[in-house]
Amino acid sequence: MLEIGTQTHPLPHQDALYVLLHRNQVLVEQDNLFLIPFTHFQPNSKMSAIYCGQWQGQDVFVCRFESVPKGFTEVGLRELLFLQDQDHYLLLSRAHQLSTWDRDHQFCGRCGTPMQEKHIAEHTKICPTCNLRHYPRISPCIIVSICKDDHILLARGLHAPKGKFSNIAGFVEAGETLEQAVAREVREEVGLEITNIRYVDSQPWSFPHQLMVGFFADYVAGEITPAPGEIDEANWYHIDNLPHIPNSATISGQLITHHIAHINNKK
Ligand SMILES: [Zn+2]
Repeated sequence: MLEIGTQTHPLPHQDALYVLLHRNQVLVEQDNLFLIPFTHFQPNSKMSAIYCGQWQGQDVFVCRFESVPKGFTEVGLRELLFLQDQDHYLLLSRAHQLSTWDRDHQFCGRCGTPMQEKHIAEHTKICPTCNLRHYPRISPCIIVSICKDDHILLARGLHAPKGKFSNIAGFVEAGETLEQAVAREVREEVGLEITNIRYVDSQPWSFPHQLMVGFFADYVAGEITPAPGEIDEANWYHIDNLPHIPNSATISGQLITHHIAHINNKK
């Protein structure tokens, strides 16, 4: 497991492991290995490395390359995340999110001065002119599995491939609680009223910096009415006869599987 730790962040060094990125791709060695020892690549002088934490006693940094160095292959972040166990998934998500934060917060959003990174025990960028601080951005999103007797609701977004269904999900609005966001998204996307909204699990989703917060809920009232321009199709599916659902590495796939087990246990 990655230890995020509370000690002052070290500077990059030769005994550390590195996660190397090129655009939104991850650079891997044979067998999709993405934790790269320092001796396996040529650091470039403009490269900035961000500290991620300790992995099995070794410091881990993430850095971006402007081109693909010799001996490495590019793999899509999503594809690589789906191959990981939970600990590697969280490590890779964190590395990608910290690197995105670093790339996207080079200048002060208030006065435009180049930001300075503080080498302290947390990730902070400080504007030397107006003292504005930036921390890594995390955007909460709700995702909810809704049941009605032994059926669950699955929807297909406008851009999802035909036959591929998932849960209702959406960003939490400013000033809203998680439960309010769940009820609102369900009302907006499929026109249903729900109750008994309860937290189940969460998962970082690094595209680019969401934290998916997963819930179960029960149907109360309403006819399914897909939101035009957002949901192409939504239906109640019997738990023994589901369409294609998301990969089990995703919180969506896990919520559906857990919900089915939960409904079966109640029978
Ligand atoms: Zn400033």
